[in-house]
Amino acid sequence: GSQVKKLGVALVGLGSYSTYQLAPALQQTAYCHLAGIVTGTPQKARQWMQTYGIGAEHVYDYDSFDRIAADKAIDIVYVVLPNSMHAEFSIRAAKAGKHVICEKPMAMNVGECDAIMAACREAGVKLGVGYRLHSEPYTREVKRLVREQAFGRVRFVGADAAYISAGNPDQWRLDKSLSGGGALMNMGVYAIQSCIYGCGKNPVSVSAREFSTRPDYFRDTDETITAQFEFPGGTVGQMMTSHNAQANRLYASCDRGWFELQPANNYGPLSGRTSEGPMSFPHESQQKLQMDDFARHILEGTPNRAPGEMGKRDMVVVEAIYRSIREGGKAIP
Ligand code: NDP
Repeated sequence: GSQVKKLGVALVGLGSYSTYQLAPALQQTAYCHLAGIVTGTPQKARQWMQTYGIGAEHVYDYDSFDRIAADKAIDIVYVVLPNSMHAEFSIRAAKAGKHVICEKPMAMNVGECDAIMAACREAGVKLGVGYRLHSEPYTREVKRLVREQAFGRVRFVGADAAYISAGNPDQWRLDKSLSGGGALMNMGVYAIQSCIYGCGKNPVSVSAREFSTRPDYFRDTDETITAQFEFPGGTVGQMMTSHNAQANRLYASCDRGWFELQPANNYGPLSGRTSEGPMSFPHESQQKLQMDDFARHILEGTPNRAPGEMGKRDMVVVEAIYRSIREGGKAIP
């Protein structure tokens, strides 16, 4: 309602996602608002203070960050940094006593996911992963169709998440020490997510291949990966992720029909259809819905739609995919 005290969010890392998606969404949220910033770029600090009316006492850099513990205006720290910095800043945020949202992919590996979850558990703070689609209506409809077996059992699920990378070959996403990997770490987690919520199960095996056509540009990160999954109960899955192709799709074939989202993972509006006709839902900012859902989880105990366990589960699958590529044959997540 209108009397609710909004939780204060501090964004850590003022890059393109914070600038063009999260900060604008935080102007629309009902349960939280932009209350602080953490940045290594003084010029951005000045600009954001002015644009969003943030006082100097709520502005931090990466060295002074831990002082945020004493900042009563900040309830949630949202880590929007290159992947190699997710674990460090999520753990420092938890130790400062703040609830944490960590962007996807949750971390560089499963071990770091465990460390983040342990830090949040020990500090008694909530942890969410930046999986905005779990608050998005077409995705929630897919999860409902699966849960209620609206078309019977899902026998096959397929998902693709890919875009064509261009520009600066030195960008952090193409630097393994900062990203942890290429297409799979970036868009691949969406395809993994789609396969899992598209059939409602976790994979029991993966068989993956990597394809490279531009090794001069993709120097130490994966360009294209395909993977096949076996799920309990006989469901088969297939995914593709790439930094050198355009794809954005979820498809599931069931006992008595099918459903599909295309596009399935951009900022929306998404589009979906089933064997019985089109889906239709009103569009709202996914990031607004996501951050309000997390704030309500803290304030009212509503479900955490994308908890740390989910981010870790996906990293377990990522590691199995890389292992299958390295060793050949099936890998067990
Ligand atoms: P950007 O490169 O646009 O921004 C990253 C920011 O991190 C920089 O602007 C900088 O902010 C800070 N930073 C600190 N150290 C470094 C460093 N060594 N190299 C580069 N940047 C550094 O990235 P994005 O905003 O696109 O992505 C950030 C995170 O958000 C990633 O984990 C990504 O996967 C995730 N993401 C999630 C999306 C989603 O839909 N859920 C969409 C897009 C991204 P400053 O100058 O303030 O210090």
